[in-house]
Amino acid sequence: MPGWYDRGVGRVWLPYTQMKTAPPPLAVERTDGVRIHLADGRVLVDGIASWWTAVHGYNHPRLVAAIAEQAARMPHVMLGGLVHRPVAELARRLTALLPEPLRRVFFSESGSVAVEVAMKMAVQYWLNRGEAGRTRFASFAGNYHGDTFATMSVCDPEEGMHRLFAGVVPEQVMLPLPDTGAARRTLERTLEARRGEIAAVLVEPLIQGAIGMRMYDAGTLRTIADAARANGIPIIADEIFTGFGRTGTMFAFEQAGFVPDIVTVSKALTGGTLPLAATVASEEIFSAFWSDDADAALMHGPTYMGNATACAAALASLDLFADEPRLDQVRAIERRLDAALTPLAGLANVKEVRVRGAVGAVELVANPNPERLKRRFVDAGVWLRPIGNVVYTTPAYVIDESDLARITDAIADVLTDEAAAGVG
Ligand code: PMP
Repeated sequence: MPGWYDRGVGRVWLPYTQMKTAPPPLAVERTDGVRIHLADGRVLVDGIASWWTAVHGYNHPRLVAAIAEQAARMPHVMLGGLVHRPVAELARRLTALLPEPLRRVFFSESGSVAVEVAMKMAVQYWLNRGEAGRTRFASFAGNYHGDTFATMSVCDPEEGMHRLFAGVVPEQVMLPLPDTGAARRTLERTLEARRGEIAAVLVEPLIQGAIGMRMYDAGTLRTIADAARANGIPIIADEIFTGFGRTGTMFAFEQAGFVPDIVTVSKALTGGTLPLAATVASEEIFSAFWSDDADAALMHGPTYMGNATACAAALASLDLFADEPRLDQVRAIERRLDAALTPLAGLANVKEVRVRGAVGAVELVANPNPERLKRRFVDAGVWLRPIGNVVYTTPAYVIDESDLARITDAIADVLTDEAAAGVG
């Protein structure tokens, strides 16, 4: 191991990790395209694009150049009273990608904060309109919206990662996804009965990512949107995972033919280079804050909001979406994932195979030993990190056929082996 590793790694508190029992993390020296180069010389094909962010591959020269150029000119200035070209351009271009009336962009630095801001906007929207009591949120089983306190309250309370905090975070209105007649009636009845207390409905459009790539169809999403509309409740579409092409369209909600009131984006916004997030509100939401009353303003302002270097990276990423056939690449990945993973449904240890856009997931019958699986994938030369009993891949859109085959072959080989051994 390199000297820096031995000297410092013990001081780094790792994410979602039991530090006492987890194997030590792998030391990474550099990245390049879809590859992660480890300090010990091994090279892994990345199957998850660093938590779904690096859609153009790592070290894309146009992203690197945009970041270097902006960092040399002006890395950052506060957005309180100051504004700059990258943030103004990005607000303009982001809203140009989104349908009207989504026209007002509030920047922050992480997905969780973008959702916090969306929730705060929704509550204050009602307060500013003189409706107190609209303080709760409706959310769905399987949803994940972040790790901060407000966002924890709208994550799946049982299967999510925040069970310990059940008594600490506010109780929200949790609903089953309306993919059956009974669940649809529950949704419609609940929203109607509790409309006076619900500030907004939160959805993860089409794919619930962090719970384990659960997929549902556009009709179900449309059912949610229609029920919310019918009761005058704003819809927050959390596109932090699904945004920027992951499901085959630029934003997943487009496939359900409705326009949310608030959209959150992050992750692939900067192509996996720098932290940046945005909460985009409709003119209607914004109008409730437009007032001669100072108290009606949105009181939020992360120190690094609208960071110029991150905005420059996001602009370069949007240029790549415009100049290169990213959505076609996603469709090609979808076809290949479908062909390679669907046959695995025949294995004794596999419960279900799901593919949509550049997302492929194999749900196992039982929880595997996650560390053993990860190690076997690394031995096969790929980087994958299963979620519970779900082995999934969310590759960079630029991945070529042979690198994608290395990922799907590794999944097929490891799971076939495990099935033969009668585990997982
Ligand atoms: N919403 C969704 C749908 C997400 O997938 C995530 C991150 N996995 C978040 C919110 C939180 O984003 P962050 O980790 O940047 O706070």
